[in-house]
Amino acid sequence: MTYDDQNIFAKIIRGEIPCDKVFENDHVLAFNDISPQAKIHVLVIPKGAYIDIKDFNKNASDEEILGFNRAVAEIIEQLDVAQGFRSIANSGDHGGQEVPHYHLHLLGGQPLAAMLSKD
Ligand code: 5GP
Repeated sequence: MTYDDQNIFAKIIRGEIPCDKVFENDHVLAFNDISPQAKIHVLVIPKGAYIDIKDFNKNASDEEILGFNRAVAEIIEQLDVAQGFRSIANSGDHGGQEVPHYHLHLLGGQPLAAMLSKD
C-alpha cells in the first residue's frame, strides 16, 4: 500500500483543512478529534507521510520516532488525564483504521469502557 497524500490528515498538515490544534512542533501535530469518543479525545500525528504505526516505526528516522514519542509525553502532560488515559493506534481494515495516516488516539477525562466489544 502506498501513502495517499489526499487523506484528510495530510490536508490538515498542509493547512488545507482546519483543525482544533492542541500541540505542534517540527515533527508532530496534535488536535481534537472531530467526533470525540470521550471527554478528552486527541489525535497525535507525525508530519511525515506514514500510513500506520508499523510504517512509522519501520521507516521514520530516529529523530522522527524520538520526537513523536517525546511529544506524546508532552501532550499527555498538557491534558487533564492525571487519573489515566488510553492510547490507541488503529491499523488497516481489521483494526478499523479510517484515515490512512498514522495517528495515535489519546482518550481520557472519564472512566473508559472495556477496550474491545465482546461481539
Ligand atoms: P481511525 O478510525 O482511522 O483510527 O480514526 C480516525 C479518526 O479521525 C476518527 O476518530 C475520526 O473522528 C477522526 N477524524 C476524521 N476526519 C477528521 C477531521 O476532519 N478532523 C478531525 N479533527 N478528526 C477527524
